Amino acid sequence: MPTTVKAYAATSATEPLTPFELQRRDVGPKDVRIDIKFAGICHSDIHTARSEWGPATYPVVVGHEIAGIVAEVGSEVTKFSVGDRVGVGCMVDSCGECKNCLAGDEQFCLEGNVGTYNSVGKDGEPTHGGYSQAIVVTERFVCGIPEGIGLDVAAPLLCAGITTYSPLKQWGAGPGKKVAVVGLGGLGHMAVKIAHALGAEVTVLSQSLKKQEDGLRLGADHYHATSDPETFKALRGRFDLIINTVSAMLDFDAYLSLLDVHGAMVNVGLPEKPLSLRMFSVVMGNKSFAGSNIGGIRQTQEMLDFCAEHGIGSDVEVIAADQVNEAYERVLASDVRYRFVIDTSTL
Ligand code: NAP
Ligand code: ZN
Repeated sequence: MPTTVKAYAATSATEPLTPFELQRRDVGPKDVRIDIKFAGICHSDIHTARSEWGPATYPVVVGHEIAGIVAEVGSEVTKFSVGDRVGVGCMVDSCGECKNCLAGDEQFCLEGNVGTYNSVGKDGEPTHGGYSQAIVVTERFVCGIPEGIGLDVAAPLLCAGITTYSPLKQWGAGPGKKVAVVGLGGLGHMAVKIAHALGAEVTVLSQSLKKQEDGLRLGADHYHATSDPETFKALRGRFDLIINTVSAMLDFDAYLSLLDVHGAMVNVGLPEKPLSLRMFSVVMGNKSFAGSNIGGIRQTQEMLDFCAEHGIGSDVEVIAADQVNEAYERVLASDVRYRFVIDTSTL
C-alpha cells in the first residue's frame, strides 16, 4: 500500500507554497524508505517552483537536500539498515548502465537521470522532493551521513555541498591555489568552507561587505565587495580558480579579468537568461569559462566523508514548514545565513 505523507507544494508559478498530501510508493526490493527529518531550501527549489527554468509540472513538492533516518528497507537492499542516518540529493534514479553512470556521473546519465522533484520516476509517476515527511528511493541514490554531522547541518551538503566540492576537486583547489568564491549564499558558504579545508587561499567576492565577518569566520582569507570598482582593479589577474555561485547575471568579462593565465571560472549558478561574453576575455590568457553540475553519487559520499572528517556542516537557520514562503523571500533578498532548513516534524 502506498503511504500518504504530508508535504508543502507549489501549485502554480505565482502562488505561495501550501500544505499538500502525496503518495509514496511501496518499498520495492531495492528501495529504502526514509523518514525525512530536515530538508534544505536550495535556490533551485525557487527557480523550479516559480517555473523560472521552464514550466514546472504542478503541483510540485520541491527539496533536494534531504536528511533523515531509514525506516524500511527492501529485501535486496545491502547498503542500509533501519535506523541508519542517510541523505538524498538532486537525483533519485538513472539507467545505471551507460558510460556516464558507470563512471559515477549519474547526473549525466545518457537516458537522463530522474530528478528528485519535477521529474518522472521509472514508475511513470511524477517525483516529489524533500519538503515532505518521507521518501522512497532506490538504494543506489541514497548516501550515508557519517556520525558527527547533525542531520540539520548535513541536509544542505546533499546539494550545496556536492555542487561546490565537485568543481573544487576537478579544478585542483588546494595548497598554493588562489580560489575566489562569488556570492556568499547557500552554495557560496559551502564553497568557502570546503576550499579552505582543501588548503586553498580563499577570497569571497560578495556584492557588499555586509557579511565580511561571517566570510572570514567560515574560512575565507580575504573578502571584497564587487560593488566597489576598486576591487576589479586590485585583484586583476589574481586567481587560479573562480567558483561563481550567483543565481543572477554578472559582468562576466570583469570577473574573467580577475583570473591568472590558465585560470578557470567555473559557473554553478544558473540564471534563467542567456549571457553575453567577449571572446577576448577567455582567449587572452588561455582562460577557461566552464560549468559544473552537482556531482555523482560516489563523489557525494566522498564529500560527506570529507565534511565529517573536517568537521564541516552547513550554517543553517532551521524553520517550520509554514515559514517556507518567508524564507524564499529572504533567499531572494540575499538575506540567508546561510541555508534555510525545514524541520519536517512541523509539516
Ligand atoms: P543563494 O543562497 O541565493 O546564493 C546566491 C548568492 O548570490 C547570494 O547570496 C548573493 O551573495 C549572490 N547574488 C544574488 N543575486 C545577485 C546579483 N543580482 N548580483 C550579484 N550577486 C548576487 O542561492 P544558492 O542556493 O546558493 O544557489 C545559487 C545558484 O546556483 C542558483 O542559481 C541555483 O539554482 C544554482 N545551483 C546550481 C547547481 C548546479 O549543480 N550547478 C546546484 C545547486 C544550485 P552575496 O550577497 O554575497 O553577493
Ligand atoms: Zn540545489
